Amino acid sequence: MTEIVLTADRGSFTDYGGVSTLGYVACMPDRIVPKLMMDALFTPRIKYKSNGEAIVAPYALRKVEAILLKAGFKDVVVAPPEALGKVVDKETRLLGITVHDPYGLSPVSFKLTMLFGGGPAWNATFFNDLSQEIWRLRKKYNFKVFAGGPATWQLALERPDWLDTIYNGEAEVDLPKYVSSVYQGSDVPKDVRGRDAKVEEIPTIVKPARLGEVQVTRGCPRGCQFCSITPETYRTIPLEDVLKEVKLNIDAGARNIELLTDDILLYGSKRLAINREAIVTLFRKVKEEGAEQIFFPHISSPAVVESPETVMEISDIAEYKKHRAEAPVVGLESGSTRIISKYMRGKPFPYRPEDWGKVIIESTGILNDAYITPAYTMTVGFPDETDEDVQQSIDLVHKLFDSGGKAWVFPLPVIPITSTKISRNPFPELEKLPGKYWELLYVSWKKDLELTRIVLPQMTERMNSKITKTIVNTVMDHTFSNIEGVFKELMETRGRKSYEYSTVELNSVIGIFRSIYRLMLVFSRRGTDYIGKSTSSSSGSST
Ligand code: SF4
Repeated sequence: MTEIVLTADRGSFTDYGGVSTLGYVACMPDRIVPKLMMDALFTPRIKYKSNGEAIVAPYALRKVEAILLKAGFKDVVVAPPEALGKVVDKETRLLGITVHDPYGLSPVSFKLTMLFGGGPAWNATFFNDLSQEIWRLRKKYNFKVFAGGPATWQLALERPDWLDTIYNGEAEVDLPKYVSSVYQGSDVPKDVRGRDAKVEEIPTIVKPARLGEVQVTRGCPRGCQFCSITPETYRTIPLEDVLKEVKLNIDAGARNIELLTDDILLYGSKRLAINREAIVTLFRKVKEEGAEQIFFPHISSPAVVESPETVMEISDIAEYKKHRAEAPVVGLESGSTRIISKYMRGKPFPYRPEDWGKVIIESTGILNDAYITPAYTMTVGFPDETDEDVQQSIDLVHKLFDSGGKAWVFPLPVIPITSTKISRNPFPELEKLPGKYWELLYVSWKKDLELTRIVLPQMTERMNSKITKTIVNTVMDHTFSNIEGVFKELMETRGRKSYEYSTVELNSVIGIFRSIYRLMLVFSRRGTDYIGKSTSSSSGSST
């Protein structure tokens, strides 16, 4: 019935209950968080029509759909993984999947599974579920399978036997050519690389994206060696196209807009110079289109320090005093000038690597004044990184908190992604991480937990369902009550304690049951009618 079907595993094909940062729960080992909770709270199903077509979908799949429709392929459907059986049949010629973290090797999944005693992250389990479904359908209907997306490098490490082609790079210029080859019955190479598109070659999406997602920039010019985003790929999407997609999402029912970018302050920039007018106009116009709230996933510290007035203006327009910004991720990376100079020289621009600590402290103050709480990520575990380097990172984290800065800090092991300049580095191993890493982890998480307890209720305000919001807040609160001790033990044993956590399934489940028990007490006080409503609103969706 459908010739081209596009999908992803559930770790990507979900709206995270309305709060994209909750997607990080899928980086936890699957034995720690029960499936019931993933289904109901963190990675709920996306609604689909009776023919299997998704009502809203991840932005990347919407973009590929637009590219193929523009190229003349008429029969293209984006479907969630649960609906593949409805949409794939003997007419299907190609199944395209986008992969985000198929084997749980992203820095966050890698760290969390390592800390909690190993085993697959939920992301890997979701991909395995999708893998089995593809294998079953392909055996029956014999279509071709292409995989693209930011984590194709993981698939290259161990290719699934049902996969025909790994498509690296961008889709606009070259994907239609390879899809035509499939239609003609010609062979497509096992690995291909799509060229980068010029801005005018990027079509706007034609059906709504989940969470009101709209891309505003592509790529990043800073060129960090551990990052797969290369300096050559940086582009700004024209305002006219951005607003077209904003309107499409809002007309389809989105209340909020998420501006996808690697640094919101790059919008309209040339050679990393801030284009205040372009950024402020972007926010103003998006608001005028009817967005209640505007979010963005990334911002960079040097740009914040360079133009605090731009940050304040976007905060005013987006009304962060009222809504708060949703923990944009900011690369803090290291407190060591030596590590910054060697592996990410362009990161502090226009400041010097020696100024990095001051830039971080100052940018935190500016962001906090603008009602934005950054989530700083740190990269630890470069082969030549010493305890002295990590001590400088610990000192910077202390300074950050002592200065009154409000921020999350997440030290992550540096992963040798195949497409980066450090691809030949070994994967980090628990025993080989600098000993001081565990102290950095404890210092950071202690503060992270304190802050999360204060801020989480504000962040979950936007969750789709009231009952889901209550459950998430309660579960997180009780989980955090116990987790500080875990990080203390990890520090005292230099990580060796994590080997014991490989058997903590029972303990964790008891913790979850304890949370559920407390929830039941809460609900019983509110009456059974409330529980009845909760069942229908949190049971996922499949219409
Ligand atoms: S600043 Fe961030 S997005 Fe840009 S290259 Fe560095 S790590 Fe990648």
